[in-house]
Amino acid sequence: MVGFGYDVHRLAEGESLILGGVIIKSPFGTVAHSDGDVLLHAVCDALLGAAGLGDIGEYFPDTDAAYKGISSVELLKRVTAMLVERNYRLINLDCTLVLEQPKIMPYKAAICENIARVCGLPLERVSVKATTSEKLGFVGAGQGVQAYSVCQIEQIIEPTTT
Ligand code: MG
Repeated sequence: MVGFGYDVHRLAEGESLILGGVIIKSPFGTVAHSDGDVLLHAVCDALLGAAGLGDIGEYFPDTDAAYKGISSVELLKRVTAMLVERNYRLINLDCTLVLEQPKIMPYKAAICENIARVCGLPLERVSVKATTSEKLGFVGAGQGVQAYSVCQIEQIIEPTTT
């Protein structure tokens, strides 16, 4: 099965920017109830989508004080566990970040390692790409950051014993 996830967060001065569980040096960060990790939110939704389990807003609502400032690495851990419980195995994950600045290249390896570790995937099955919006739209104006993610999962069929 294939899953798709998308997320967007507003950027503001003085907030922290955390992408893929990595703290990015930037004068602008995401405005959010959780840690605002737009990339991991898109990954969570891709995983949930592939398993037909809804979206992260249903499990970790931003109106619930329990999730205020929560690490999205923790959210991804919980989503991964939900799939494992249902005998789903993640095959691969591909993501694209869209933001005007800063450059994500220096952080890519650390981001991929984080996602691979949390999702239990070999590193070569995690892909994170980044692009700007060519100064177009709200991302181009530096007002927000977007993330897209797709994944493939398979259900492990337990051999039936007679
Ligand atoms: Mg989000």
